[in-house]
Amino acid sequence: MAHIVVLGGGVGGVSMALDMRVVCTRKDAHKITLISDSPTFHFVPSNPWVGVGWRKREQIELPLEKYMKKRRIDFIPVGAKCVHPDKNMVELNDGQEISYDYLVISTGPKLAFDAIPGLGPHGGYTESVCHVDHAEKSKETWDDFVKNPGPIIVGAVQGASCFGPAYEHAFIMDRDLVLRKIRNKVPMTFVTSEPYIGHLGLGGVGNSKRMLEDKLAERDIKWICNASVEKVEKGVMHVKRHDEFGEVIETLELPFAYSMMLPPFAGVDAVRGNKNLVNEKGFILVNEYQQNPVFTNVFAVGVCVALPPLEKTPVPVGVPKTGYMIESMVAATAHNILDVCRGHAPTHRAAMNAICLADMGNTGVAFVALPQLPPRNVAWMKGGKWVHWLKVLFEWYFLRKIKTGSISPVHEKYMLRLMGIRKREIPDETIVRALKSGK
Ligand SMILES: Cc1cc2nc3c(=O)[nH]c(=O)nc-3n(C[C@H](O)[C@H](O)[C@H](O)COP(=O)(O)OP(=O)(O)OC[C@H]3O[C@@H](n4cnc5c(N)ncnc54)[C@H](O)[C@@H]3O)c2cc1C
Repeated sequence: MAHIVVLGGGVGGVSMALDMRVVCTRKDAHKITLISDSPTFHFVPSNPWVGVGWRKREQIELPLEKYMKKRRIDFIPVGAKCVHPDKNMVELNDGQEISYDYLVISTGPKLAFDAIPGLGPHGGYTESVCHVDHAEKSKETWDDFVKNPGPIIVGAVQGASCFGPAYEHAFIMDRDLVLRKIRNKVPMTFVTSEPYIGHLGLGGVGNSKRMLEDKLAERDIKWICNASVEKVEKGVMHVKRHDEFGEVIETLELPFAYSMMLPPFAGVDAVRGNKNLVNEKGFILVNEYQQNPVFTNVFAVGVCVALPPLEKTPVPVGVPKTGYMIESMVAATAHNILDVCRGHAPTHRAAMNAICLADMGNTGVAFVALPQLPPRNVAWMKGGKWVHWLKVLFEWYFLRKIKTGSISPVHEKYMLRLMGIRKREIPDETIVRALKSGK
């Protein structure tokens, strides 16, 4: 019997623990332990709704102990202080030492607000929707803001790798202000490190440039691309605009009454320090089987995985890791761990595909990139009310998946079908195979 430890109870980690349990047969009888620094799971993609009060925390949060216990998964609600891959052990903040045979790291991102003076909700002047705690705080600031409205700056700073939620939050705030009949009092500016609107860290997807420019223009949201944020002071963002070679061509002082900027992501502190395990930013190094090449009993899934940027841009941007890709990393890892446990070499590769749904309150835009990096078999971006409902469905599905312990791959089984993408359009090597019981 092997002890499989999953570190991090978010979108990737919880899926990983559940999938692992389903893949293991009773004959395998492996012990699975989930460790997380929070007793609850929260569904990160719903945070922008929490930020304006369209969702309450309780609606997107689930207690992990209860649902893990139902699936015979041990749960330890204590954060990891340090991962020791050379000792096959995770040291926890309360001094416990948890030994493992296989470790799956799924600790998500460290939100590197400290990269820019004055950025972020802790001691800075900008809001965040990356964590539900931040989104709740952001809602308080939003309530004050709507009583005394002024300019909004929203976007993503240099080194960010997650742009979809920045657009989404801009559109959601716009919609909320329209519903409150105060949109006319709020000049909005989208400030982004992307070289052009709709780049998304992916070199654009289909007509994402034209479409997102249109959506921003229709909503009177101005934009500044190739932007780096130098510092943020109370009510003023200091921004540099760069040319195509990265040279600064303009220095701007942008006033704001409310701002939400996505920070750069890095690896969490608990995994840093071992150059065989992580890259210089602290992301976990893995091969095509989600396995660390040096510590071969260590795997990683989700945002914590090291992926190189797609291309050199005037201002640095990273590649996003979204739900479809994470789901597929999880499925591949579950099968690979089982293979290795049984003395075989790992063979399952994750599908590097992307689907992103950006809600706009009553409508939305969705993009599909198969595979994620160009050239692609499928690359399109479309909009409509159906995107809003698909996002609501995604939230419902994911929370239900935790409650029921089901593991069907939502993106391939439902999302692509609902978006009208036919199976033959999906590149063969990127298909997420439904998990099979390991019999
Ligand atoms: C605002 C926002 C909206 C998004 N919307 C979408 C969307 O609509 N569709 C989509 O496909 N993708 C979306 N994404 C991208 C992606 O799907 C999410 O970021 C997703 O949550 C990533 O999953 P993860 O498991 O890698 O990280 P997370 O979900 O962040 O989970 C990491 C977990 O590890 C825990 N942890 C961290 N450090 C430690 C430690 N030292 N010890 C123990 N536990 C630790 C954390 O508490 C957390 O529970 C969005 C991202 C953001 C930020």
